[in-house]
Amino acid sequence: MQHSQAQTRFEISTNNRLSVRDITEQVCDAIPDEATGIATVFIEHTTAAVTVNEAENRLQNDFETALDELIDNTGWQHDELDGNADSHIRAMLIGASATIPVTDGRLTTGTWQSVLLIECDGPRTRTVSVTVTPTVSNRN
Ligand code: ZN
Repeated sequence: MQHSQAQTRFEISTNNRLSVRDITEQVCDAIPDEATGIATVFIEHTTAAVTVNEAENRLQNDFETALDELIDNTGWQHDELDGNADSHIRAMLIGASATIPVTDGRLTTGTWQSVLLIECDGPRTRTVSVTVTPTVSNRN
């Protein structure tokens, strides 16, 4: 029985202020071989987010458009500080992490599911951590 915890971090550079980026390959590379448990994919920022959905170009464009239209770009209190309240609000609505089951070193995702980084205040370099918490068996 193993009780160790493995964490890997990687960086991703984004190109636009608002963009959806498929990071499934980087997340898969961060999963230790033969690991079985729960992977937490966490973004260490307040104006970017992580979610799981379909990595289809038109859908990614649609999501960028929806996020842009849902939240006004100006008129927020935080804008007095650094002018990016809309970016924080978009990121908060999506969330900073995704929890994904892992079996034998592979993500146990559905056919059309990918791990997506949602950049809300780019272009920037973002740091993502992947922590795999092993499933503990009590059968001794
Ligand atoms: Zn800010």
